[in-house]
Amino acid sequence: MVEPKSVILTKIVATVGPACSDEAVLVRLIEEGARVFRINFSHGGFEGFERSLAAVRGAAEASGVHVGVVGDLSGPKLRVGKVCDGGVVLLAGECVEFQRQAVVAGEQGVVAGRAVVFSATDSSFIDDVEPGHRVLLDDGAVRMLVVDKTGEGEGRRLVCSVTVGGRVTSAKGINLPDTDVSVPSLTGYDWRCVDWAVEHGVDFLALSFVRRAEDVRALKGRLSELVGGGSQAIPVIAKIEKPQALDDLEAIVREADALMVARGDLGVEMDLTMVPVIQKQIIAQAHDYGKPVIVATQMLQSMIESPTPSRAEASDVANAIYDGADAVMLSGETAVGQYPVQAVRIMGMIAKTVQRAMAEAVDVQSRPPIRLQESRYRTAALAHGVNVVVRDLGAKLMGVWSQRGGGARYLSQNRPSIPIIAASSDPVVLRRMSLLFAVEPVLMEQPADLGAFADELERLILDKGLAREGDQVVLLAGEPIGTPGVTNTLLIRELDGTAKRGSN
Ligand code: PGA
Ligand code: MN
Repeated sequence: MVEPKSVILTKIVATVGPACSDEAVLVRLIEEGARVFRINFSHGGFEGFERSLAAVRGAAEASGVHVGVVGDLSGPKLRVGKVCDGGVVLLAGECVEFQRQAVVAGEQGVVAGRAVVFSATDSSFIDDVEPGHRVLLDDGAVRMLVVDKTGEGEGRRLVCSVTVGGRVTSAKGINLPDTDVSVPSLTGYDWRCVDWAVEHGVDFLALSFVRRAEDVRALKGRLSELVGGGSQAIPVIAKIEKPQALDDLEAIVREADALMVARGDLGVEMDLTMVPVIQKQIIAQAHDYGKPVIVATQMLQSMIESPTPSRAEASDVANAIYDGADAVMLSGETAVGQYPVQAVRIMGMIAKTVQRAMAEAVDVQSRPPIRLQESRYRTAALAHGVNVVVRDLGAKLMGVWSQRGGGARYLSQNRPSIPIIAASSDPVVLRRMSLLFAVEPVLMEQPADLGAFADELERLILDKGLAREGDQVVLLAGEPIGTPGVTNTLLIRELDGTAKRGSN
């Protein structure tokens, strides 16, 4: 008898870019295990986003997989304005200035003893920074300290002294780790992206540079306004990449629908050595509240140019999964890299190896989602209990009727070592399950009752080769099926093929 198909429990998020925007390549990424695609609003324009989205939807359709799409909002990311062709090389000890008015830096030629003058995409930071604050360009590659502010009003300028030199080109990012910047968390451009995302049915919105829970609340408020409230609003992923966010982490976790450990900017804004510690803190906090969490950036960075990752990168992916991440993300590896398909494949292989090891090691069982349990919510309690039943029975699969996705999320947050087949009749809900650890979303017409659901699920499991006759599956549902909040029944079923025969 053939071995049941093994499923990658950890979700792989792939960033869409020129290296994978072809539908055929996207199909390959899905085959290798990508379940969520990120469209980064920081690069490209609406025409490109539209093409990317259509290609992802086409590839998902062709693969028969419920794939989620994240629209990633840039937030208050500050960038340098235009710089002359070829960029400007800054030397340590040199003085540079920032002015409010747009300028092409270095256009006048670089004159010894005269400061190069830059502008930025938003000039209000000139008021916010103070002498002694750090100004970091290009992910911290070029560093400077503010030494003075001169002039007033429109003529106000910032004088900085370069501490680490390097080449600066147009639109490089600016990080201000010491400054409380007053720019709003969602810019005019972000709000246009939000409208676009709602219009085009994007499945998640990620918000960059979240500073406090209020930032998430503002976006969620607008989203529920746009769809008239309730569970239809697009879920929001809070990207944790600012030191200020860590001071308000618990409130942010409560407010957000999901979290991202955005290690790229986090490693610039914070002491780099803190990143692994903060990663564990964010995952633990998200887990307490039963919110899915993505670990992002540089996971397989060297695969942008190489067909195999470094040992350190393989360990990084594995350790994020051991930490309890729902999802691991690829950025440049799939967006602009030479080996997008291989990167997803390697990530999936690492995930499968780790999940096998974790299932065998009894002592790596994760903590239950404490805050969820405290809610005394019936579905959350049952989901917690299911895990014990599954372990004691050696069950091969869980099944849940999860019309709005809640049951799937609660089961997932108990970090099972077997897949959760989550059924709903709503394709939007299924796409939003794409981020949940171990969850395999399936579209099903609403069954008449629990028995019919169990039969239907058994047929599907055997057809897809996810388990075989004689295996036990544990089901969770409630009646009347399809009504949210009624989950109160745990059902154990041994697959015997009768449901399958019955249908033939
Ligand atoms: P970005 O976010 O790729 O949009 O910057 C992720 C990160 O900062 O790690
Ligand atoms: Mn970032």
